[in-house]
Amino acid sequence: MSSSDAGLKDTADKNTASAVSNFIRDIIDEDLCTCKNGSRVHTRFPPEPNGYLHIGHAKSICLNFGIARDYKGLCNLRFDDTNPSKEDTEYVDSIREDVRWLGFDWDDREFFASDYFEKLYQYAVELINLGKAFVCDLTPDQVRQHRGSLTEPGTPSPFYSRSIEENLDLFSRMRAGDFPDGSRTLRAKIDMASPNFNMRDPIMYRILRADHHRTGNLWCIYPMYDYAHCVSDALEGITHSICTLEFEDHRPLYDWFLDQFAELGHPQQIEFARLNLTYTVMSKRRLLELVQQGLVSGWDDPRMPTLSGMRRRGYTPEAICSFCDRIGVAKRDSTVDMALLEHCLREDLNKRARRVMAVLRPLRIIIDNYPEGQIDELHAINNPEDQSAGTRMVPFSREIFIEQDDFMENPPKEFFRLAPGREVRLRYAYFIKCESIEKDTATGDIIALHCTYDPATRGGDSPDGRKVKATLHWVSASHAVEAQVNLYDKLFSVSDPSDTSEGKDYKDYLNPYSIECMNGCRIEPSLASAKPGDLYQFERLGYFCIDSAGSSNGSLVFNRTVTLRDEWTKIKKGKK
Ligand code: ATP
Ligand code: MG
Repeated sequence: MSSSDAGLKDTADKNTASAVSNFIRDIIDEDLCTCKNGSRVHTRFPPEPNGYLHIGHAKSICLNFGIARDYKGLCNLRFDDTNPSKEDTEYVDSIREDVRWLGFDWDDREFFASDYFEKLYQYAVELINLGKAFVCDLTPDQVRQHRGSLTEPGTPSPFYSRSIEENLDLFSRMRAGDFPDGSRTLRAKIDMASPNFNMRDPIMYRILRADHHRTGNLWCIYPMYDYAHCVSDALEGITHSICTLEFEDHRPLYDWFLDQFAELGHPQQIEFARLNLTYTVMSKRRLLELVQQGLVSGWDDPRMPTLSGMRRRGYTPEAICSFCDRIGVAKRDSTVDMALLEHCLREDLNKRARRVMAVLRPLRIIIDNYPEGQIDELHAINNPEDQSAGTRMVPFSREIFIEQDDFMENPPKEFFRLAPGREVRLRYAYFIKCESIEKDTATGDIIALHCTYDPATRGGDSPDGRKVKATLHWVSASHAVEAQVNLYDKLFSVSDPSDTSEGKDYKDYLNPYSIECMNGCRIEPSLASAKPGDLYQFERLGYFCIDSAGSSNGSLVFNRTVTLRDEWTKIKKGKK
């Protein structure tokens, strides 16, 4: 079963993660039964501040914070900042904002691996004293050569047998800055013949002169992830250390380190499958590349799978959490269909978004029999899904705009919208009939349509039971507000942009049509005072939100969040 099938489960009444069981919750239930960890549940979300969070991180956030919430436990936010050359406070700030936006809170439990640098150093000294770590003078290349292969055991470092005293002295001088970058490492003494590479005397510390975003140049040695992570978990009293599957082979090392330090607790590492989404790349390294090469406008480009990009696009935290809930947590990697994410989004927006009318490609209509200067205020329903959203008045006048697409001079059989001599309904307003076309005499382009309206059809119903085949949205020309509308599509044009089998790079698959900026769109006047982040359904067109970055200078800019067409429902039907 692919994990997108998980979305087929009936989850209509499951709005919180609490209703969903998974193998991690089974482990926790079992631990609670046996009173392991003193019946505490304490998780953590440990991002490295080397980029903005993406939708994959949301899965981990919902999982870790969701478990803490449902088991009345705690979840820490810990920045795993052991790699100073790639990390930055900009990323720290964005991570905080994104986790909060998703609706989670870590109270005062915000930690940094760098908070533990001194302790980590002291534990490393302890390991040297135990005869279980040594300073190695091999260069990174030489270390690799000694590592062996899948079929051959590694060979011990020639520096393996240094005395404890010499190791202590060298390690303190590594810290003091006596040696150049990369010239020495501290390594654990485990087993060069282990079938698991991670256990072949792994490096614990490296020498690196780089400015750290928090500790500045206080340190010139930095702990490696495998060492820092398990000790940080133990120092924080974490009970269940939940990570993605690629760390499965690192678990023996996680356990080995903690086994050496009797006074530290021993969290249980549990691995789950990371989220992969179609039409998306999800590694921060690649997302950074897109930003740095200017292939997107920034980390919060509305086409990016980052949480900041999705927020700007109009995604709601509720939709993202509901998606994470539906895909579930599995032990095997799979790829989830983007259509499921969009389905969750539509489901949420359908409930909350006010319906309004907006015309993206305006075609002017002059209603010849409508009195000049007259304005009708018509009742419109704000959200048929939510009665409490109420109604509003929409002005109607002699000149209106409809979509260019809603008119055809020579319509084929299957076209039911406006055409010469044909009558259609204007939503909430009147029936109108197209009487003639006004064209530019030089170019032949259509400038306007002349129509007549039937005053008896006010509100959109005909008293004589006359039927029309189409209902069009419209705006009053003199009342409408002008706006820019950005239409977004998938950032990549193939479902698996990471597929390099044809010698291609993921960037070769960027969708050249992923953004279309439309100017001169006309929006109904009730949106004149809309604020950044406000969400709407433009009737018949899709869901849109006010762009948070582009609307500042008084002009309105809308981003299309998602279209109305639900591919997921079709996929579901096809599978039945
Ligand atoms: P990336 O590969 O995108 O750089 P990462 O794993 O290096 O991601 P971290 O900052 O180390 O990013 O991740 C923080 C937490 O989020 C980790 O526990 C990691 O396992 C989890 N995580 C990262 N990507 C995903 C994903 N696609 N699905 C689920 N969890 C993820
Ligand atoms: Mg990482």
